[in-house]
Amino acid sequence: MPSHRIALISHDKKKDDMIALAREFRDFLAQCQLCATGTTGGRLQREIGLNVECMLSGPLGGDLQIGARLAVGGIDAVIFLRDPMTPQPHEPDINALVRACDVHDIPCATNVASARLLLGALRA
Ligand code: PGA
Repeated sequence: MPSHRIALISHDKKKDDMIALAREFRDFLAQCQLCATGTTGGRLQREIGLNVECMLSGPLGGDLQIGARLAVGGIDAVIFLRDPMTPQPHEPDINALVRACDVHDIPCATNVASARLLLGALRA
């Protein structure tokens, strides 16, 4: 079976949560094709040792790059740990990515609890 293609994105105050999540699912994620927004991906590479294709940083267009790939069938699942308490300069890009997930019926987990359920289901 081809490996899952998973996109990983986390806002600044959620990056530690993303690292903890990736550590918990490290063995599974190591078998997946991963892409991530720039800063998130850099930390996943350095701190977890995962092989991650890094896009631009989110505020510079990384969310849009992931959305564009998803729209042509290149992403199977999105883990998007959003910070609901901090205004983001690229809010339109964030909305565009989540909308693209809904348009194309791609699972998108936006908090740790749903991310654990999604990754657990993909791993099963
Ligand atoms: P980053 O982007 O991983 O480059 O910080 C995430 C975002 O803010 O969308």
